[in-house]
Amino acid sequence: MRLFIYLFLFLSVTVTTAHARMNVPVEAFTFDFNIDTSRLGRYKEEKIFKTTEILQTIFTSQEFKDRILGHRYKGRKRFARNEGLSNFEIYEKILQGMEKLHPIENNAMDIELAMYTDNDSIVLGYTNPSTKKIWMNTKYFNRNSPAQVAATLMHEWLHKLGFGHEKERSEDRKYTVPYAIGYIVRDIAREMNEDDR
Ligand SMILES: [Zn+2]
Repeated sequence: MRLFIYLFLFLSVTVTTAHARMNVPVEAFTFDFNIDTSRLGRYKEEKIFKTTEILQTIFTSQEFKDRILGHRYKGRKRFARNEGLSNFEIYEKILQGMEKLHPIENNAMDIELAMYTDNDSIVLGYTNPSTKKIWMNTKYFNRNSPAQVAATLMHEWLHKLGFGHEKERSEDRKYTVPYAIGYIVRDIAREMNEDDR
């Protein structure tokens, strides 16, 4: 009889943890970050390595999923300029990793990093849909923490998935997919940092 009780307890614990894990899809855990850093020096490569670790932890977190699914714009659960996609579809699209340039669902971020320096600019980075490359301004890259760099990378990569925003600052811009999810990444990264302390 006692054995049955133990067995029952064991099974219910197993089922509970499996259920908790099931909330974050397996694609979040298998997601690959194929970030080509061969054009960067060693110091910058190390920073990107830390940045990738942060992104990996964020992708597998329940909070990342919950915050995307719960994002609100003008009183409704949605993003501005969402390309007709629901919050859940946007989350799925991220995990599919299907860049417009190579529309294959390979469950990965495929990018190449390049640097430029413009000390007079307030632009952190830029990209365009016809290339794997993301250019980052060394002015910000050097001074920003890996957590902030993670947010910038995420913002630029979301452009590659086909999400946009207006160039000029506006009321709505912070609710667009690149901005809002960039901020989600930044916020979770900061919380992780506080947990480390
Ligand atoms: Zn942008």
